[in-house]
Amino acid sequence: MRCAAVILSGGSGKRMNAQIPKQYMDLKGKPVLLYSLKTFSEAEFVDEIVIVADREHRDKVQSDIVDLYGMHKVSNVVVGGKERYHSVAHGLEALSRETDYVFIHDGARPFVTMYTLERCLHYAEKYKAAVAAVRSKDTVKVADDDAMIRSTPDRAHVWMVQTPQTFEYPLIKDAYRRLIDDEDRLRAAGIAVTDDTMVAKMYADVDARLVESTYDNIKLTTPEDMEYAETICEKMLKLPDN
Ligand code: C5P
Repeated sequence: MRCAAVILSGGSGKRMNAQIPKQYMDLKGKPVLLYSLKTFSEAEFVDEIVIVADREHRDKVQSDIVDLYGMHKVSNVVVGGKERYHSVAHGLEALSRETDYVFIHDGARPFVTMYTLERCLHYAEKYKAAVAAVRSKDTVKVADDDAMIRSTPDRAHVWMVQTPQTFEYPLIKDAYRRLIDDEDRLRAAGIAVTDDTMVAKMYADVDARLVESTYDNIKLTTPEDMEYAETICEKMLKLPDN
């Protein structure tokens, strides 16, 4: 079985209000992207990694991250697109054709664990599609455009999805090709594609299995998230006193 990962690093990270995109920011002396890249590299079941970067940083990702840290499983650093789904599509097309399973992961999520990768792959083998997620601790409300509450989903059934999102490779590659062909219609209908399981459902009619992950698997989005990320790093490094 051949397994690959697409790590997304093609966003501009506007909500971070920083000079450089969040995935390249310094977290305890190392770029954010390196954290998850290292976890995927160390996974014995991952054979190939493709990184999707924005055009401006592509060469720097190759030299200052892939080459500098000897990330040998990275076969390619490709340039992303305008929306996240364009970047995913570019990454999927760059993988070797023999791939059986693929993890799609946000490079802005440094704290994904090896156990989560193992479990996502296990459930993708069983259900074709699996996604890391956590149960919502808060009650969630669905509102209209004027912020008036319209419904309250049963909290027992509300999950917050993260990445990795893991799929049979031919299935998700084909679904993304269909999505790109259908893009104008979606835009006209105001349908936003915000994750990969949506694409699997819309274009391959496959339901993904949720895989309970950790609350630390955060996506760095705003400046406060960087402070929180440092706290998580410190917690991970903290050893018992004796
Ligand atoms: O913008 P958002 O936080 O949803 O981005 C999630 C991940 O997707 C990030 O790792 C970001 O770098 C990546 N991304 C991308 N190409 C885009 C937009 C986002 O690779 N056009």
